[in-house]
Amino acid sequence: MSGAPDGRRLRPATLAVHAGAAPPEPGAPVVPPIVQSATFFGGRGEPASQLVYSRYGNNPNQAMVAEKVAALEGTEASLMLGSGMAATAMTVLAVCEAGDHVVASRYLYGATHAFLTRELPRRGVSVTFVDPDEPDAWEAAARAETRLLLIEVPTNPTLRVFDPRPAAAAARRRGAVLAMDATFASPVNARMAEYGVDAEIHSATKYLGGHSDIIAGVVSGSAELIERVRAMMKLYGPAPDPHAAWLLDRGLRTLAQRVAQQNHNALELARFFEGRPEVARVLYPGLESHPDHALARELLDGFGGVVSIVLAGGGAAADRMCDALGLALLAPSLGGVETLVSQPRYTSHQPLTPEEREAAG
Ligand code: PLP
Repeated sequence: MSGAPDGRRLRPATLAVHAGAAPPEPGAPVVPPIVQSATFFGGRGEPASQLVYSRYGNNPNQAMVAEKVAALEGTEASLMLGSGMAATAMTVLAVCEAGDHVVASRYLYGATHAFLTRELPRRGVSVTFVDPDEPDAWEAAARAETRLLLIEVPTNPTLRVFDPRPAAAAARRRGAVLAMDATFASPVNARMAEYGVDAEIHSATKYLGGHSDIIAGVVSGSAELIERVRAMMKLYGPAPDPHAAWLLDRGLRTLAQRVAQQNHNALELARFFEGRPEVARVLYPGLESHPDHALARELLDGFGGVVSIVLAGGGAAADRMCDALGLALLAPSLGGVETLVSQPRYTSHQPLTPEEREAAG
């Protein structure tokens, strides 16, 4: 469901509650039950696609989340997986095989970067990193054997906002897939299918779950692409537990309200930091001083709940600040109801070498 009975497009806050829900039969529960079953009765001789089995991602809780996320993204289909990294890895593996080539932004979450540089070469897939600040770089780096282009918007942790349209054009010309990790935006702040992105990936551990109590991922796109990703999930196995799917559905119900408040709080915090002498730079796309502010206003409906700062005193000052925190908690992750603080060199970007971290800004 993505529209009202009269055909109007429903707002995210409404879709987040109603999309994917069972019809309101008298006596049926208003809140969907947790269907904590690995397997389901099947008839004889049904096509394999009809089998319901929780590793296939078609348990009722998994299917409901998928339908809701697809409605929020405005795509044909979605799939819930066991983590954000599972969503990224299964999408890459669905699209690429030995001999293929990937063009990726050099601003990526640390484990995504590690997956591309350490796992893909072992499978005979080569990767070229580009700087999406140069829009022509995608076309220049893409080859005939390029099957996938990969970008992250906004970037973790530098909060850069890049235009996916040049990458989408380069992908189209080669029949390749453009995938975007839009975790830092959430489907409330960005629906990137509108800009030519074929696969929208989220770590649902963050905003979508919203309570820091599940590890999950989602990928959205055409029904054909999502079936290819599902085929990888069936083989490699990173399917979510029905209880995690139920918790994700519960989190999604308040997604729009949480993200609106997080957008507001983060902008206030960013403005506060801008006035502090201890802070050398504030990175927040909602600030006029941010290099991508104009583009962020064009592409996004909000600037997100993460604020990054560079302290004048460097790493030692960052350690002192983290030691002195009161209510804010020192832990990696984002998008939950509590305020978390982390230093990427110890957490999200720990897998990178110092040189790779320098290159990623
Ligand atoms: N993508 C981004 C941008 C992230 O920040 C993270 C986790 O921090 C991930 C992907 C991976 O998500 P997960 O921890 O759910 O596998």
